[in-house]
Amino acid sequence: MAADVLPYGRQLLDDEDIEEVVRVLRSDFLTQGPAIERFEKAVTAWCGASHGIAMANGTATLHLACKALDVGHGDSVWTSPITFVASANCARYCGAKVDFVDVDPGTVNLCPDRLAAKLEQAEKNGTLPKVVIPVHFAGQNCAMDRIHALSQKYGFRIIEDAAHALGGTYLNERVGNCRWSDMVSHSFHPVKIITSGEGGMITTNDPALAQRVSMLRTHGITRDASLMTSKSHGPWYYQQIELGYNYRMTDIQAALGASQMNKLDAFAARRRVIADLYDQALAGLPLRPLARDPQGVSGWHLYMIRLNLGEISRNRREVFESLRAQGIGVNVHYIPVHLQPDYAKLGFTSGMFPEAERYYEEAITLPMFPAMKDSDVERVRSALVNALGV
Ligand SMILES: *Cc1c(COP(=O)(O)O)cnc(C)c1O
Repeated sequence: MAADVLPYGRQLLDDEDIEEVVRVLRSDFLTQGPAIERFEKAVTAWCGASHGIAMANGTATLHLACKALDVGHGDSVWTSPITFVASANCARYCGAKVDFVDVDPGTVNLCPDRLAAKLEQAEKNGTLPKVVIPVHFAGQNCAMDRIHALSQKYGFRIIEDAAHALGGTYLNERVGNCRWSDMVSHSFHPVKIITSGEGGMITTNDPALAQRVSMLRTHGITRDASLMTSKSHGPWYYQQIELGYNYRMTDIQAALGASQMNKLDAFAARRRVIADLYDQALAGLPLRPLARDPQGVSGWHLYMIRLNLGEISRNRREVFESLRAQGIGVNVHYIPVHLQPDYAKLGFTSGMFPEAERYYEEAITLPMFPAMKDSDVERVRSALVNALGV
């Protein structure tokens, strides 16, 4: 993008971050060295979880979280249709079926009432899910207390997709602490809250899941004699216990991630300020932000608006193109996953998840990143006034 374009998201790195990466480049370990453990400790300390397993990207963490819960052929996994494709693809990597639960029209998070209704039906049909993956859309927590209660009733496991949510809280506890789930998946892609270039992490309080995920990260290989199925041949010996992957993160990435964790609270605080500025600046325009759930504090990865299309003479595409032409790097999050051609092949069609589809017709993602200036919010507002023709 040109220099005068305001992007929708952008990383914020400082000299300290750069020095930490350079330090690794001058050290003995580019991968599988001490920076990984440092990063894992920094994230688990912030979240208040007992284990952290760093990985190559967030998608890999979702894949291995499913694997560690034994998701496979014949199982089904449910998630939200308004998410990045990774939240659904992870189940398919394991050979499982994916299904979706429509979103709450206010928060656009997976709707607990619709989940309850779908579970009741599935119980009758014998099609209960093995795992549900609530996605904390835009950074705002799903109704985890209710989803957790449903998991107790129906016996499914929970993987939270917190790719948007690090830095936020739910019922006064930090995202990632696994209070309501088996595992929480994090992403450190540059547009997310903190970055390691590419990267992801599983946080969990379950030592057995942590061990399994950590082994799957490196081909399913262990050097721990207590896990081996037969006697060690000697000090060089390792065993592959199950089929795993190479999903390791490099120390170069982990050093950046660990350094970025020092800024997490400041980044999150700045994002909250920008969100409040947007709420104030945009009040009175023919649009609405996502509803805020008072039970939590969002990590504010994204700031979306929904156009009140009945009140304006332009359509979403015209408003979007006008904003882009004015140098506002808007985006749309997300095209409902079930409408992707690769999901149509599985039998999903439009009309199946109407709240998700309605949201998609109206949605625009505005710029949101910690280095944004207060005056940028005003710039977005002026461009919106133009674009909406009001
Ligand atoms: C970014 C993201 C992921 C993981 O993405 P990676 O690019 O693989 O780190 C997963 N779920 C959601 C909702 C995301 O936005």
